[in-house]
Amino acid sequence: MTEKDLKILIVDDEAFIREILAEMLEGEGRAVSTAENGAAALETLKGDEDFDLVISDMNMPRMNGLELIREIRNRGRNLPIIILTGNDEIKIAVEAMKSGADDYLLKDENIQDTIFLAIDRVMEKFRLAERNRWLMADLERKNKELERLSFLDSLTGIPNRRYFDKVFEQEWRRAGRSGALLSIIMADIDDFKSYNDNYGHPAGDECLNRVAQAMNHSLNRPGDFVARYGGEEFAIVLPETDPEGAYRLAEKIRTQICGLNIEHSAGRACGMITMSLGVASIVPSVEQQAAHLVEMADQALYTAKNEGRNMTCISPENQ
Ligand code: GH3
Ligand code: MG
Ligand code: MG
Repeated sequence: MTEKDLKILIVDDEAFIREILAEMLEGEGRAVSTAENGAAALETLKGDEDFDLVISDMNMPRMNGLELIREIRNRGRNLPIIILTGNDEIKIAVEAMKSGADDYLLKDENIQDTIFLAIDRVMEKFRLAERNRWLMADLERKNKELERLSFLDSLTGIPNRRYFDKVFEQEWRRAGRSGALLSIIMADIDDFKSYNDNYGHPAGDECLNRVAQAMNHSLNRPGDFVARYGGEEFAIVLPETDPEGAYRLAEKIRTQICGLNIEHSAGRACGMITMSLGVASIVPSVEQQAAHLVEMADQALYTAKNEGRNMTCISPENQ
């Protein structure tokens, strides 16, 4: 099938060639413009974004074909270019292809047939390249979205354990380098098993979601984040935060969770959903692993549970 509906620019210094080619190509939806050298071609292209194809001679005064190709490519214009050469100019044709031409066409007695083949070939190649670029960009977009989703907890939409493991480790190393305090809060919903037993698993999910959103909203520094650590346990990472600051935030969260007024008649605390929280801070040192800080906060959380729940405890190492 021969390409139709194309807007073509023919560039040649010989009027005779311009006329012959224009006559061959015009009609069947194809529109042809002509220019007598590279400079004139650039002018024509500058004023019109709609051209689909350039067919250009190589040897021309003022600006030759090679310079025209380079100019078009330098301007980042994605336009198929076919060059016209004589039989004795194959070396120039090769040079032109290296400079960004898409195909070459011999000016000989067969041109009436070969010109349509060349146009079809070039336009098909161009369309495939366009489609390829689009597919690659689409793939990159989707990969980024997948990567983003792989770090989110599907129930609550907050960062998940995978995100926590990655970013907490980064924060640990960053704080180690700068000698800053790094704090963490481990927070666990009280008597959540009996909440599920009493109100059903869907209500449990809803409750988890509300708690997660409340915790997320209680953070206001850019580096702070809360992640769902597992089940009904959450971890909050607080870079450059001392134990007092972390404790104040933990207490604010604890009060806010009480303030959600989610009824929990079987709970041991106050008839409402509550949380216990453990706080720990450290200046990371090279001998220690990031997990050490989690253990410190876990231990404080354990104490909060043992001492009656709905409370915040600080790691003994910070007291
Ligand atoms: P404690 O006060 O000592 O923390 O007691 P608890 O009952 O909260 O702790 P336990 O570890 O015994 O039970 C945790 C419960 O959390 C059990 C589990 O069914 C529930 N749970 C964990 N993940 C989910 C979830 O995604 N959705 C729901 N609905 N429940 C969950
Ligand atoms: Mg619990
Ligand atoms: Mg738990």
